[in-house]
Amino acid sequence: MPKKSEPQKSDLQSRLAELPAVDELLHEAFRRGLLPRFPRTLVGELVRSQLKTIKDRVVGESLQVKELFSAETFWSAVETALEEFLAANLKPVINATGVVIHTNLGRSPLAAAAVEQIAAVSGRYSNLEYDLETGSRSIRYVNVEALLCRLSGAEAAMVVNNNAGAVLLALSALADGREVVVSRGELVEIGGAFRIPEIVVQGGALLREVGATNRTHLKDYEAAINEETAILLKVHTSNYRLMGFTGQPEVRELVALGRKHGISVVEDLGSGNLLDLKAYGLPGEPTVREVMASGVDLVTFSGDKLLGGPQAGIVVGRRDLVEKLKKHPLNRALRIDKMTLAGLEAVLKCFLDPLTAVEKIPTLKMLTMTEAELKKRAQNLRRAIVRHCQADTRLELKIESSTSRAGGGTMPMVELPTFCLNLRVAGQSSALLEKYLRSRPFPIVVRIVDDWLVFDPRTIFTDEFPEIARACQELVNL
Ligand SMILES: *Cc1c(COP(=O)(O)O)cnc(C)c1O
Repeated sequence: MPKKSEPQKSDLQSRLAELPAVDELLHEAFRRGLLPRFPRTLVGELVRSQLKTIKDRVVGESLQVKELFSAETFWSAVETALEEFLAANLKPVINATGVVIHTNLGRSPLAAAAVEQIAAVSGRYSNLEYDLETGSRSIRYVNVEALLCRLSGAEAAMVVNNNAGAVLLALSALADGREVVVSRGELVEIGGAFRIPEIVVQGGALLREVGATNRTHLKDYEAAINEETAILLKVHTSNYRLMGFTGQPEVRELVALGRKHGISVVEDLGSGNLLDLKAYGLPGEPTVREVMASGVDLVTFSGDKLLGGPQAGIVVGRRDLVEKLKKHPLNRALRIDKMTLAGLEAVLKCFLDPLTAVEKIPTLKMLTMTEAELKKRAQNLRRAIVRHCQADTRLELKIESSTSRAGGGTMPMVELPTFCLNLRVAGQSSALLEKYLRSRPFPIVVRIVDDWLVFDPRTIFTDEFPEIARACQELVNL
């Protein structure tokens, strides 16, 4: 009973007073081992916010504290919130879409050797810019320059942050304040706001468009050349194809024209094939070596498209031109980091043996997988799911032929035949199931076709099958 002199507490105040104090809760957090397991300020923040949620309900719903507050639910909510907050935001996902070079999903998964080399180099000091023989400073591409020259037949090479950066650097270093001649058929937008007309302007050069959208002749290039012309730029149209009445001069003709006038030919190759993939039934994209052999002075390409390596912009070509790029101030701004160089070196070493490269580099392995192999994988995936879910009758599974895509703006018209595992759960909308798969701690990204979830085994690693089987069990129990 309150003493007479004390003001009577309102019912609400006395109910709120039953809630534990923050200090008390922080001691409890310590007793429960949340401290020092989690950062102190974060524990404090989440304890307060959890407490506020309960307080708001005590006020809003006129409930008793004991109806709302139980130590077990309180602490399990706090612990879950702490774990969620500290879980990695950038994390692995399973790519079941069949799009091999999926830019939104990180493009190329790296070869095991590359992952090992990145781990080996990044947790310690390294000889990134240090010559161990002389004990003096060196430059950072030495670990890959000779390899790139060997694989491409070029005299010199360098690497920057990505291919968009490589093109910008080449234009800035070779054409600043002068003219760049480009065919109207190659003034493309690659995606992610990389557009050739704009990148030329950004590089400080003046764009001289020549020809028509569908056809450009050698004489169009020749007519555009004047004393202000710095380079003839060729661009791989990547995610876009011209069909029908079309034509571009042969690269050799363009090179001969450039030589006649003392003008360099630069080519943005986009994907940059180091292997001839024709043997695997893929389209005959020229390899970097073939482009170099045709006399192009400088070539740029991505590290994470058909090369299957880390994000990088690779430049190979004439020594004097590469030297100009290396010395340009923009090169410092586009500098490549040690982890990328470590990974790139390992991937390039895989290409020294073309036969094993296709086995070791996941992107190439996925692109060259045979239909028989894909069918077998689809069957194995089905088997893994059926075994795990003990043939639950709500789960419907069927294997169907379908097509995968190369992605990454490479080979846009190419259909890669595949066999997919299609899945449905009786009574559940596939949109809901798809959303659930994305929201798991180990997310799975799938396509929906005609209300079926589609798993394309081309882009799924076989060691991910058990995880997919577990996820299917979760879907059935949703
Ligand atoms: C992909 C592509 C680029 C951009 O390369 P990133 O490595 O993504 O910066 C530039 N040019 C062409 C022709 C491309 O295909």
